[in-house]
Amino acid sequence: DLFVLGSFVVACSATVARLPRAGETLRADSFLVDPGGKGLNLAVGARRLGARVDGLIAAGLDLFGDLAEAALRRADLPAGMLRRVEGATGAGIGFIDAAGENCIAVYPGANARLDAAAVRHASARLVRARCVLAQFEIGDEAIAEGFRLARRAGVATLLNPSPFRLPAPALLADTDILVVNAPEAEACRAGLGLPEADPAAMIARLLDRGPRLVVVTMGADGALARETGGALVAQPAFPVTAVDTIGAGDAFTAGLAVSLAEGLPLAESLRHAAACGACVVRRAGVFDALPDRAERDAMLAT
Ligand code: ADP
Repeated sequence: DLFVLGSFVVACSATVARLPRAGETLRADSFLVDPGGKGLNLAVGARRLGARVDGLIAAGLDLFGDLAEAALRRADLPAGMLRRVEGATGAGIGFIDAAGENCIAVYPGANARLDAAAVRHASARLVRARCVLAQFEIGDEAIAEGFRLARRAGVATLLNPSPFRLPAPALLADTDILVVNAPEAEACRAGLGLPEADPAAMIARLLDRGPRLVVVTMGADGALARETGGALVAQPAFPVTAVDTIGAGDAFTAGLAVSLAEGLPLAESLRHAAACGACVVRRAGVFDALPDRAERDAMLAT
C-alpha cells in the first residue's frame, strides 16, 4: 500500500551517430517514446512487484496526457491517480550519440502545477497508504503538504530529493526514509554544512535531521544504508552488463519501498532494491525494463 506523489514526463530519445549541430536535421538510428518521470517510474516499479499502489500525478489536456492515461492502464495502476490540468504535459527530448554522450531538455509542464490544494484533495486516499513516496520533479509545497498529512496520520514517508535541491529542514524532519544517490549525498552534506568527507559519518549526521533510515546509492558500487540505532549496512550491486543506467535509482527505490512495506528487514530489502536496479540497467528504457517479482527473484538468485 504505497502512495506516490510524483511526476509524469514523456521521455523522447533518439540515438544518432553524432549530436546534431544548430540548424541541422539528422537521420536517427532509433527513436523511443518512454512514458516516465520519476513518479510514474516508482508507481510502475512498485505495482509490477505486486504492491497495491495509488498516488497523484499530473498531466496536461494534450495528447501526451492521453498517453499518461494509457500508461497507467498498461501498468494496472488506478486511473484516479492522474489529474489532468490546463496546458502541456511534462516532456523531455534527448539525443544520444554513438559514444553514449547525450544532450537533453526537459519541460516540467503539468508537474509544476501539482500544488498543495491538489494533494489535500487526495488526502483521503493518501492517509490509507502505508508509505508516501515523493521525489523533487514536482513542487515543494505539494510534497510538504503530502508529508505533513502523512505524518499526522501515522503514514511513513520516503523522500528521494532528485533532481537535487536541499530539502527544507521541516521536510527533512517529516521524512522517515531518505534515499539519495552519491552526487545527491555529497550535495546534501555540503548544503547542510557538514564537514565529514566519509559517507558513514555523513549518513549519521543526516539521521540526526529527521529520517530514521538513510540510503545512499552508488551505481555499480552498490548502496550504503543505516537505520537510527543500527549499524552501517553495505549492499553490493549485482554484476550485470549495463546498457542504460537511466531509471536505476527509481527501480531501486521502488524495490526498497515494496520490501520494507512488506515488513522485511533492512538488509533483505536493500538486496531486493539492488536486484531491481540491476534489472533496469541491463535493458534500454525504463517503463518496459522495470522488473516484476519473477524477474527480481531471478536476479536475486544469480
Ligand atoms: P541513480 O539512478 O539515482 O543515479 P544509482 O546510479 O546510484 O542511482 O543506482 C541505484 C542502484 O541501482 C545502485 O545502488 C545499484 O544497486 C543499481 N545499479 C545502478 N547501476 C548499476 C550497474 N551498472 N550495475 C548493477 N547495478 C546497478
